[in-house]
Amino acid sequence: MDIHEYQAKELLSNFGVPIPRGSVAYTPDQAVYCAREIGGNRWVIKAQIHSGGRGQAGGIRICSTEHEVHAAAADLLGRTLVTKQTGSQGKLVQRLYVEIAVPIAKELYVGFVLDRRAERVCVVATPEGGMEIEEIAAQSPDSLMRVVIEPAVGMQSFQARELCFGLGLDAAQIPDATRAVLGAYRAFRDLDATMVEINPLAVTVDGRVLALDAKMTFDDNALFRRPNVRELRDYTEEDPREAEASKYGLNYVGLDGQIGCIVNGAGLAMATMDMIKLAGAEPANFLDVGGGASPDRVAAAFRLVLADPRVKVVLVNIFAGINRCDWIAQGVVQAARDLSVTTPIVARLAGTNVEEGRRILRESGLSIITADTLAEAARKAVEALHELGGGGGGGGGGTGARNGAGATTGSSAFAGVAR
Ligand code: ADP
Ligand code: MG
Repeated sequence: MDIHEYQAKELLSNFGVPIPRGSVAYTPDQAVYCAREIGGNRWVIKAQIHSGGRGQAGGIRICSTEHEVHAAAADLLGRTLVTKQTGSQGKLVQRLYVEIAVPIAKELYVGFVLDRRAERVCVVATPEGGMEIEEIAAQSPDSLMRVVIEPAVGMQSFQARELCFGLGLDAAQIPDATRAVLGAYRAFRDLDATMVEINPLAVTVDGRVLALDAKMTFDDNALFRRPNVRELRDYTEEDPREAEASKYGLNYVGLDGQIGCIVNGAGLAMATMDMIKLAGAEPANFLDVGGGASPDRVAAAFRLVLADPRVKVVLVNIFAGINRCDWIAQGVVQAARDLSVTTPIVARLAGTNVEEGRRILRESGLSIITADTLAEAARKAVEALHELGGGGGGGGGGTGARNGAGATTGSSAFAGVAR
């Protein structure tokens, strides 16, 4: 989970990372009010979207009068910003952060990431801050310093000090900078972050060290024990399909193919995607409905998969260990009825209560294609796709195509298929 800059700054400042004065605004009038409260005579109005590169995209404005603050806020709010990280569709600006503008002497970079190969938290720092880390890595890779943290002892003061000297800071700035680096490390560790990036960590003309930008990403699997972090979630920033999926505890990743997948267990979901490819088509998504999937959750999974206009055929593949096939079957039938599904559904159930599950599918009166093995299910799904005339072609497909195709040729796809 990602959060906004202003939220990350607040969290970091609780761990002793120094930040400039600032506050959040949702309207131009509020922005002016914030500027007045903050004081001074130069402010930065910063678009709050889950993306870096806002400066280059026009999302960071320096203002010297209240009138300019109002105008910049009015211009930014409601604007869609396209940065290097957002993709061409951009992100809508709905909040602003108003911050005192500080005179910058130097912009440094400090980032904390999980190095999966080293199985350690790793600090990356360079005196070449301001740009994106990818650009720094490409343009001046030699300037990058890396420090690996021993988990048993955590980051040590000497490591932070060494980094700060490496950043070229004056002796007078070392204690403040060291505190900032150690504070950011503790925030990373204590809040279950997977990434903390301060870019720039600025040295001001009058010698102060301040975090001018902050980005934090958190481990979704640890959010249950970090309610204060979880409540910072901004659903409007996320892919609506993935946000909807997370509400039901579904693990979903959208892809470009035509066969929608509803599977329990991440490994089985991967295997199902592989089998679809082997059978000659492409999966439209990865979806893990999780362990104890209730009929409700299966129905939610269906709604989610069918909401994707690319999906022409749905493949349900459940191996019920903790799950129960009869529950899954109920969910499939309920969803197919509620949503008046015309899309061909191929279901392969195995494991606990499988006979009962199959009976429910058989007696539902719905045209659900059943299969006993994963290979057979994948083959039947691809056959159903070909019967719709959707095989082989690029995934483009019009949005109306699914229902149309399903309604007219869907029944022939089911015809003659063994139950
Ligand atoms: P992004 O990384 O998304 O472009 P930043 O918050 O890093 O956004 O801002 C971009 C640049 O704007 C910074 O590198 C810095 O030069 C300048 N900047 C940001 N905040 C301030 C501030 N409070 N005072 C002065 N300059 C700032
Ligand atoms: Mg930045």
